[in-house]
Amino acid sequence: MKHWQQRERALELLAKEVGYVRKPHGGKLRVALAFPNTYFVGMSNLGFQTVYKLFNAEDDIVCERFFLPPKSELAAQRASGAPVVTLESQTPIGEFDVVAFSVSFEWDYTNVLTLLRLGGIPVRAEDRTHRHPLILIGGAVTFVNPEPLALFADVIAAGEGEALIPSLLRAFNDASGREDFLRRVVAERGFYVPSFYDVHYAADGTIARYEPRAGTGAPPVVRKAALKTTEAVDPPATTIFTPETEFGSRLLIEVVRGCANLCRFCWAGYNYLPVRAFPKDRILEIARRARAYSDHAGLVSIALCDHPDIEEILTELVKMGYAISPASLRLDDLTPTILDLLRQSGERTITIAPEVGSDRLRRVINKTITNEEILHAAELIFASGMDNLKLYYMIGLPTETDDDLVAIRDLTLQLRDVMMSHARNRGQIGRIVGSVNPLVPKPGTAYQWLPMEADVVIEQRIKRLRSLTAGIDNVYFNIKSERHSFYQALMSLGDRRVSPAIEAAERNGGNWRAAVAETGVDADFFVFRDRSADTTLPWDIIDGGMKDSFFRSEFEKGQREETTLPPKRQKENARLLPVLQ
Ligand code: SF4
Repeated sequence: MKHWQQRERALELLAKEVGYVRKPHGGKLRVALAFPNTYFVGMSNLGFQTVYKLFNAEDDIVCERFFLPPKSELAAQRASGAPVVTLESQTPIGEFDVVAFSVSFEWDYTNVLTLLRLGGIPVRAEDRTHRHPLILIGGAVTFVNPEPLALFADVIAAGEGEALIPSLLRAFNDASGREDFLRRVVAERGFYVPSFYDVHYAADGTIARYEPRAGTGAPPVVRKAALKTTEAVDPPATTIFTPETEFGSRLLIEVVRGCANLCRFCWAGYNYLPVRAFPKDRILEIARRARAYSDHAGLVSIALCDHPDIEEILTELVKMGYAISPASLRLDDLTPTILDLLRQSGERTITIAPEVGSDRLRRVINKTITNEEILHAAELIFASGMDNLKLYYMIGLPTETDDDLVAIRDLTLQLRDVMMSHARNRGQIGRIVGSVNPLVPKPGTAYQWLPMEADVVIEQRIKRLRSLTAGIDNVYFNIKSERHSFYQALMSLGDRRVSPAIEAAERNGGNWRAAVAETGVDADFFVFRDRSADTTLPWDIIDGGMKDSFFRSEFEKGQREETTLPPKRQKENARLLPVLQ
């Protein structure tokens, strides 16, 4: 799209928005902030909106947004040769000091490259000069494993925006130039400059060590930066309202950060410890102010009910007239009051994550609930007047057998019985939808050394589960393909040697099979190898605060079907896991 067409499009979008920030550029650090997907998807992402707000809260920074053009416009944008521009001032992104990406999903890696190309910026850091903006990559994926993006980023920000932005600004203000900035920023907590490290490989292809280059001041490992407490902090919440997003003009608000449950596969659970609740009064104040623009509140938290005042928060939101959607609810925290409040707010579907069908396998993964408790929760859910239930399951877990697949079917049937018994009284039958994903072992979890289950095994299990769950009335299963998970695993578990495959997939429109074949990247090496004897894992360059010895002992306990009980109270949690010393 030509510049004038982009400008018209930007003005159209801005006209529908409430809350965007327009600042003069003069004398400020200019940041072009991208969500590497479309406007429609990006504006529904609370992390992205939060970073925009945090940048613009600084007087010395002006931050403007840009997005991937929708598929229907991408070819025209490429063909026009006009550089992609920001929404707020329609300035080409190449004219900014910093181009920052907030990356939440591995599948958006190729979009990062597309946006750089559309901006006329070389995708590899080594090909850029002082005439180009600094490329900063942050977001959830970067504090799990930033390595597959290492060759594209000048700086990787590992941790939470609230803790990172002030030190980034300090380094910029004090720096005399690009090199000086990089040296200053690595002295701050949470910043990783990949070009400051030599990576040494052993003869078997594993990483022998990361070696900081002499004179750069880069630390041997980069410590993640995170908020120590949320007591005095405003909760992240939607600041720009627009109808043009996945969730319409919904107020998204983070109620509590982290989850104390310690499920052994869960990177979010481990990486956002300790559990930190945002102040109730601030949550309600923000909701009150936003009521003029929104009548729907999306509560974004992985363990909503870990907030000590959750019942009061929900009561007040209902009184304000909000419809409420929780992102997901942890079963062990569901109470009749909470369900009642959600029902009153208009919610008809509850999403829960049994993960597996058998208590035995749940002990292996440390999901410390039983089928009996799940069925009890379902009683409460349907008794409260909810119609539908959404279930998350996983397959390809350690020690899994055919009995565990049968158990998924059996548990779902039992849940259906509960739904039907309540539906009969109400004369209306809802539905149960099961989503099934193969396990992708994640960095920063007790499964970080595990190979992904062999593709033939996953295919067989998918087939078996499809046949077990076919034809059950009012029950629907979505089962993710093994190939989809395989390439996601490659991006999760890889190191900078997978970058050529990301570049090729970007060039060929997302054909990963061809990209891997063309570039000769040994994907099986990254995905199907047992890493337990590796000296250094790709993500060891970031210290997330959790000890390897803890993960190893958790894995071994899991193999013995032993659980680690979740320390429910925050103080105990922080004591057990000294993440933020
Ligand atoms: S309950 Fe388990 S899976 Fe869910 S967020 Fe907490 S740790 Fe993760």
